[in-house]
Amino acid sequence: MTMRAAVFQGVREPLEIQEVDRPDPDPDEVVVETDACGICRSDWHAWQGDWDWIGVVPQPGLIFGHEPAGTVTAVGDDVERFAPGDRVTVPFNLGDGSCPHCRMGRSNLCERSTPLGFLPITPGAFAEEFPVREADHNAVRLPDSADPVDVAGLGCRFATAFHGLAHRVDLDPGDWVAIHGCGGVGLSAVQIAAALGANVAAVDIADEKLSMAEDLGADETVNATEVKDVPQAVKGITDSSRGMDVSVDALGVAETCRNSINSLDKRGQHLQIGMTTSEEEGSVDVPVDAMVTKEIDFYGSYGMPPAEYDEIFRMMDRGKVDPGAIVTETVGLDDVPEMIPKYDEFATLGIPVVNEF
Ligand SMILES: [Zn+2]
Ligand SMILES: [Zn+2]
Repeated sequence: MTMRAAVFQGVREPLEIQEVDRPDPDPDEVVVETDACGICRSDWHAWQGDWDWIGVVPQPGLIFGHEPAGTVTAVGDDVERFAPGDRVTVPFNLGDGSCPHCRMGRSNLCERSTPLGFLPITPGAFAEEFPVREADHNAVRLPDSADPVDVAGLGCRFATAFHGLAHRVDLDPGDWVAIHGCGGVGLSAVQIAAALGANVAAVDIADEKLSMAEDLGADETVNATEVKDVPQAVKGITDSSRGMDVSVDALGVAETCRNSINSLDKRGQHLQIGMTTSEEEGSVDVPVDAMVTKEIDFYGSYGMPPAEYDEIFRMMDRGKVDPGAIVTETVGLDDVPEMIPKYDEFATLGIPVVNEF
């Protein structure tokens, strides 16, 4: 039995739609029929060979896709919590369920984490079906009300932004939050920060992304191409121009990272969500002395543990957040190969989702 999948061919070579073997569940696995899967800047990063410095080196033959929603079709012998017909999603960084971090509820930091759709042992969801390892630990049951496209929209970007803003930094209602970069993760962060009661300033170089940020709850916007000094312009939004309480680099290039740190008030908190490109190779110079003398914190946010999904689902259920509002386009599996290179030019507005396989 075969199925259709979007398969990696090599660095910056177009993915190919191929017939591949259907997955059979190992004892700890479920197999999920994909209903929807987000297309993400992380796919582009892996496709162009970024991230070998964190051990992500995709091999030809790999199936991409790490932002899925789907329906369980087959269940391994040891799986207890799921049955065929259950609707599920999974975090992109799957845990083994047994290391100290997983036992502490932090399986996004698992000692033996395997990111879905980036390594051969965890083929991704740009396919008719995909397997989920340690399914009892990793799979997350969807509420009946959740639409698969909305859930795909909360894929890695919305989840990472939520984990960062709700569980990493200390964000109080009325705090000023700046979001530097309004791609998928940045727009997600805008919506989440607004839902958590913050005042939100969105920064980008494209007016259409800034106007989408306004629709999603940004109180102020800054077009970085129209001001001399981005951090000063962002600080100018706050009382007495003191600066932001929280500032997010939602892109992962040196300039947005430094702009974010330099937008902060004393005791401000920088949240790094974007990961870097081959330009930075994982490192960015940051103003250490200023961070010390202003007592600035630097937080990372990497995915989200399965338990936090229920918080998002409860907020979705009551209309407080809506990941679907960031989904701008639904496409078929055949369109995936041409969608990935579009991230070269930052031409992607919001989140495209595949929902025909
Ligand atoms: Zn673990
Ligand atoms: Zn992603």
